[in-house]
Amino acid sequence: MRRKLLLGNWKMNKLNSEAKEFAIAAKPLVAKARANKIDLGVAPTYLSLATARKYSSKAMIVAAQNVHFEDHGAFTGEVSIPMLKELKINWVILGHSERRAYDNETSEKCNKKMKALIANDMIPVYCVGETLAQYEAGETKDVVKEQILKGFEGITEEQAKKFVVAYEPVWSIGTGKNASTEIAQDVCKFIRKTLKSVVGKSANKIRILYGGSVKPENIKAYLSCPDVDGALVGGASLKIDSYEGLLNNIL
Ligand code: PEP
Repeated sequence: MRRKLLLGNWKMNKLNSEAKEFAIAAKPLVAKARANKIDLGVAPTYLSLATARKYSSKAMIVAAQNVHFEDHGAFTGEVSIPMLKELKINWVILGHSERRAYDNETSEKCNKKMKALIANDMIPVYCVGETLAQYEAGETKDVVKEQILKGFEGITEEQAKKFVVAYEPVWSIGTGKNASTEIAQDVCKFIRKTLKSVVGKSANKIRILYGGSVKPENIKAYLSCPDVDGALVGGASLKIDSYEGLLNNIL
């Protein structure tokens, strides 16, 4: 049985002081989630990671939104795995479509990061998804298949167990345009089948999240899909009331 996971992606939002306020306000929600066997988390900016970790419940997942695959060196503007580990940050989102679009993040680069994270016993949340043009051209499954195969290249069955994959159709991120639950289930099922071809039985342990304009009003429908194990939520995870609404509606 895969535990449900609700992960908020704050993107480039929230001051450090706001992250602190949220972390404190979310404490009772983490307890409620735990009691219902749901994992709860947020991914603040690098600058707020230490604050979010310090003021959150221990059980709250605090994830980074990116990381470099090298431990240190001449990589201006980057942050490394040891730097995250020192702050007790063990989860990292990789390959988000905004990073793929604006920061030259590729599946090959994500693969190097995945391997570096595994070597440090950390958990990657690997994002895949097609653009609107690819969706309209009927290329969704070709695109996600390539992203999965390249991202998981060389990852063993044993290593893959703790991984999380997020299916986020790019055309539904921050647009208010939802993929239907039929599309979400169909693509997540296809992702699991593709994962099976690379990491065997561990594909049944990997949690697959759906992301793209998920809100308190629609989260339950997505999480009722057999291959959708949770949600990666941007806009609706920023305000504590809305975050609580997301949780309440999947209890
Ligand atoms: C995201 O940032 O991963 C996301 C899904 O954003 P939103 O929920 O705002 O569409």
